[in-house]
Amino acid sequence: MSPRGDLLGKVAIVTGGANGIGAATVGAVVEQGGRVVIADLADEAGQALAERLGDAARYRHVDVGVRAQMGGLVEFAVETFGTLDLMFNNAGITGAFHQRFLDDPLDDFEQVLRINLASVMWGSQCAARHMARRGSGVIVNTASIAALDPGFSIPAYRASKAGIINFTRSIAVDLGEYGIRVNAVAPGGIPTTMNSLVEPGLSPADFAELQTHLEPLRLIKQPLKKPGKPSDIAEMVVFLASDRASHITGQVMVVDGGVTAGSTLNQTALLAEGRNAFLASRASDRHPEGEPG
Ligand code: NAD
Repeated sequence: MSPRGDLLGKVAIVTGGANGIGAATVGAVVEQGGRVVIADLADEAGQALAERLGDAARYRHVDVGVRAQMGGLVEFAVETFGTLDLMFNNAGITGAFHQRFLDDPLDDFEQVLRINLASVMWGSQCAARHMARRGSGVIVNTASIAALDPGFSIPAYRASKAGIINFTRSIAVDLGEYGIRVNAVAPGGIPTTMNSLVEPGLSPADFAELQTHLEPLRLIKQPLKKPGKPSDIAEMVVFLASDRASHITGQVMVVDGGVTAGSTLNQTALLAEGRNAFLASRASDRHPEGEPG
């Protein structure tokens, strides 16, 4: 991202900011002149990122699934940097992967809903209370195309992300009169730890090799034949947070390489092929080889 000063003097909180989409957004906020609190459970990665960014970033250990910690997080940002302009509610988990719903033990459904959805509600309210007092602010929540394009597996995750979308729209309507804009970003498949079916802790070299292996599989359903990157999502978040988006609220911005535009499977061509094969076999039944047609 080229530095344009889009967020000059602004203060952001990024939950799940130590890795993946969150870490890319932290970098982009600072690049655009902002300061940021990185909130995460991954202390080592979060602290290392904050140290790399110097005075513009601070790390805070936060479990977004614990309501009181979200209130403390907003207070920390205001005490540290003086205000809060952007709340990016981004931390999330998929829950355990099972092939079919009938195999799901349901044990982690509550946890997925608490970390992915309840945390967004808590974070939004804590941030909005501060923003409403000064009459401006931006909230961005990370949804997913998993909410728009339902399919196999992780139903609790899909439900949590669908919940984020309606929650976002609902509070955007409510908070408009306080000058607070609320939008969601819905990423498609982005090669992060979460999306790669791996346990955190894989060495960077092994992680990179795994991505190369997974890339063709990731692109099967995607019209644009290049993998999405965390920075693609960060770009959208920075845009939404900036004054360039000053008339946008209550929207879901999909960044997915075209996946939700429609299936890349050309069903019409497949049906035509099937029809032609059928008609050809009919014709040869009626006129076996050697007989005049
Ligand atoms: P990631 O695993 O790289 O990063 C997620 C971060 O959230 C990690 O740093 C993790 O430590 C943190 N986190 C998890 N639980 C937490 C908690 N209870 N408290 C605080 N921090 C916590 O994954 P990512 O792909 O960057 O995911 C970021 C967001 O994007 C998630 O909400 C995810 O659902 C969403 N998303 C990702 C994709 C994708 O393909 N990667 C697609 C759609 C949506």
